[in-house]
Amino acid sequence: MIFPKAIENTNSFIMKLFNIKIKAFLIVVVITAIGFAQDIDLPNVKILATGGTIAGSAASATSGSYEAGQIGIQTMINAVPGIKKLADVSGEQVANVGSQDMTVEIWLKLANRINELLASDDVDGIVVTHGTDTQEETAYFLSLVVKSDKPVVTTGSMRSSTSISAEGPLNLYNAVAIASNPEAKGKGVMVSLNDQIHAARDVSKMNTTNVNSFQSPIKGMLGGVFYGRLGFFREPNTKFGNTSKFSITGVKKLPRVDIIYAYADMAPDLIDMHVKAGAKGIVIAGVGNGNMTDAILNAAKKAYEDHGVIVVRSTRAATGWVLRDNEFKDKDYHTVASGDLNPAKARILLMLALSMGEKLNDMQELFYTY
Ligand code: ASP
Repeated sequence: MIFPKAIENTNSFIMKLFNIKIKAFLIVVVITAIGFAQDIDLPNVKILATGGTIAGSAASATSGSYEAGQIGIQTMINAVPGIKKLADVSGEQVANVGSQDMTVEIWLKLANRINELLASDDVDGIVVTHGTDTQEETAYFLSLVVKSDKPVVTTGSMRSSTSISAEGPLNLYNAVAIASNPEAKGKGVMVSLNDQIHAARDVSKMNTTNVNSFQSPIKGMLGGVFYGRLGFFREPNTKFGNTSKFSITGVKKLPRVDIIYAYADMAPDLIDMHVKAGAKGIVIAGVGNGNMTDAILNAAKKAYEDHGVIVVRSTRAATGWVLRDNEFKDKDYHTVASGDLNPAKARILLMLALSMGEKLNDMQELFYTY
């Protein structure tokens, strides 16, 4: 019979169609599930933006003149291809300044926010975008007061976002890769630019314009990163993070600590001027191994004896240790040797130590351990 056959054919045609649809549906379900599972597996990285050249823009792609801190964090994230495959990233604008305008107030806000975020199981790592001028200071400050072993990576760029060959997007991509990598745990705050990973304590901006500006002249890089693939070469060897005794809980400001740059025949009354202006501590960017004129050394002694102002000897030399009791006995002048901390970082340690009520007797040990 034709009629029933036709029904049979129609039935099997419908069944085939149905089967194909079910198969297609199942394939879509599986693909979606895999995609979903991958999303779930992606680490959560928060990017906290503070401004700098990485967020800078210029009228011309071939001009060195630009304005720092112009681009918002979402625009920066959108400019990085593949970043969302590395991690579940989201951004927050903490500030938008050239880092020459970085303040203790922003440091405290940033550090408190990082502590809050890292305390949550929902955040695996932090990236801070920052101008390069004072990036080493912010990174070192954070390394002393962030209480977590989850990775915190600061990054920036030497070329503005609108520049020809802007390196900001790759630096940000690499920073997110580091912050989402379990191997980066327990390494303290890291600074990453130009395919390199540096320990916050050891790194300095060494060149005013070059993309290879950041270097750790004494201890060398912590590791390297290449289009998101990374490796570590050594461990940081000072205290930071969970082992640091410094805390900013409840801290609203830090004591004033000034830096005085030493030079031949420097004005002998500089120390007095800073003490009168309210400095509670002074760092001398000394000549050579933290040296200074006799007059300044005696003024340092008097500043401590008369006003309790502690003077730390660092160096204006680009690299090297400042050793205790080198050309005179530090004890005789109540001075402290900065070890390998440069003047800007010695200032941060002294500010934090003073804010926690540390006394001269314990200060030298702090400079050797942190
Ligand atoms: N002046 C800029 C800043 O520190 C320089 C830079 O980011 O490269 O914000």
